[in-house]
Amino acid sequence: MIIAVDGPVAAGKGTLARRLAAALDYGYLDTGSIYRAVAARILAGGGDPEDHDLAAQTAENLQPGDLERDDLRREAVGQAASKVAANQAVREALLAFQRRFAVQPPGGKTGAVLDGRDIGTVVCPDAHVKLFLTASMEARARRRHKELLERGEESIYARVLQDLRERDARDSGRETAPLKAAEDALRLDTSEMDADQVFAAAIAEITKRQRP
Ligand code: C5P
Repeated sequence: MIIAVDGPVAAGKGTLARRLAAALDYGYLDTGSIYRAVAARILAGGGDPEDHDLAAQTAENLQPGDLERDDLRREAVGQAASKVAANQAVREALLAFQRRFAVQPPGGKTGAVLDGRDIGTVVCPDAHVKLFLTASMEARARRRHKELLERGEESIYARVLQDLRERDARDSGRETAPLKAAEDALRLDTSEMDADQVFAAAIAEITKRQRP
C-alpha cells in the first residue's frame, strides 16, 4: 500500500503523513528532506543552489547521513531546497531512491507513506491513495510562524508570509514536476480543520480505497 500526501508548504502534510505511518505501521518518507539535504550541503560549502551542475552533482553523491543534518529545517535551507528542486537533473537523481522506498519500505513494512509535492503525479503515479492538502496562504503562514517560534527560532509573520509566497510561486511555476494535485487525488482544504479532522478524513479515504 502506497499513500501519497502532496501539497504546498505548511498545509499539514508532515503531521498527517507521520501520523498515518504510525497508525498503520508503514514506513514514512519526508521527501522534502531529501531536497533540503542537497540544498544544505551546497550552502554549507558556500555554493549557489542555482548552480545547475553543482546541484546535480550534489544530488548524485547524496549520502544517507546527509538526511540527518541538523540544519535541514532552517528557513534558508527550505528556500534553497525549492531552488535545487527546480533542477531536472536533481529530480532525476533523487527519483530512484524515493521509488525504492515506496515499493520496499525499510524494516519489511507492508506499506509506505510519502509526503512531498509530486508523489501522486510523478514519483508514485500508481499510489493506492492520493491526498492533496491545501490551506489558505494566511492559515499556512500562521502555522509556520507558530511552529518556528515554538522551535525557539526568530520569526516575523510578514516575512514568513513573503517566504511562503515565493516558495509557492517557485514550486508551482517550475517546468519540471510542478506542484499540482493528481486528478485522482482527494483534495482537503485544511484551513479550518485541526489535525484530528484531517487524520479522520484521510483514514476514511484509505478505508474506502481498500474496499474491493
Ligand atoms: O516540504 P519541504 O518544505 O521540506 O520541501 C522543501 C522544498 O523541496 C519544497 O519547497 C519543494 O521545492 C521541494 N520538494 C519538491 N518535491 C518534493 C518534496 C519537496 O520539489 N517531493
